Amino acid sequence: MKAFDLTGKVAVVTGGNGGIGLGMAEGLAAAGANVMVVGRDVAKNESSVAKLKTLGVEAASFQADVTDKNAVEAMVAKTVEIFGRLDILINNAGTNIRQQPEEFTEAEWHTVLDTNLTSAFICSNAAYPEMKKAGGGKIINIGSMLSIFGASFSLAYAASKGGIVQMSRVHATAWAKDNIQVNSVLPGWINTELTRGARRDVADLNDRVLARTPAGRWGEPEDMSGIATFLASPASDFVTGAAIPVDGGFSVQI
Ligand code: NDP
Repeated sequence: MKAFDLTGKVAVVTGGNGGIGLGMAEGLAAAGANVMVVGRDVAKNESSVAKLKTLGVEAASFQADVTDKNAVEAMVAKTVEIFGRLDILINNAGTNIRQQPEEFTEAEWHTVLDTNLTSAFICSNAAYPEMKKAGGGKIINIGSMLSIFGASFSLAYAASKGGIVQMSRVHATAWAKDNIQVNSVLPGWINTELTRGARRDVADLNDRVLARTPAGRWGEPEDMSGIATFLASPASDFVTGAAIPVDGGFSVQI
């Protein structure tokens, strides 16, 4: 088997209809995987499916809110109905509410925690039996620089992304016996819809990111495709429980 070959594998990518999720889905498709794109916006879902099909693989979409357990179970069932199996899950759907910690309502806290962390718990549990059936699997959870750093405006987001890393480590230890590898990816500042909002909300963010990132630029969604391919492929069969920054050096610069 070739180290980075995903021919015949089937991937579910939550939030695969744009930004980092689509960048990762394109990496998987270029390596030969068939992809199920999951998101709430049907038009964005369809446009991503069209892009993925140009890479010569099968792609489909499923409209789901990943905080809804019934919808997530239906997402897995539909994936198996269409593609016959499930090998790779990327828990990428996410959101943020930026304000000072004392301003958070409980509802806002739960919105961010449910979307970023509980969703990954629900999706991983739903995917687990299918991965066992397939003889193994790969789960890739999307953390953040806020999995390791703090920022005054990111209370719920940082809590959720710290949780993602710890949840990945637990799943990695629990499911190693089933040949399922579980890792998290910690993106630096990537140019997406989410961070276009951050640039509007946080004064000087653009200048600060450029000054702090050794690579001297924002990342683009396609910068995330290689790590997705690596962590989804046999090349990473002995890598599990890791939290891998993809950040242009942001996390090693003092
Ligand atoms: P985008 O806003 O571009 O994408 C977010 C994606 O999540 C969309 O596809 C959206 O689809 C989906 N989504 C959000 N909520 C739900 C939900 N309840 N159910 C289903 N899908 C949902 O952001 P990014 O691409 O930037 O972010 C992707 C991930 O990367 C997030 O987890 C984010 O925290 C993380 N990240 C991003 C960084 C960056 O610099 N951009 C840095 C570090 C981490 P739809 O609206 O159709 O539901």
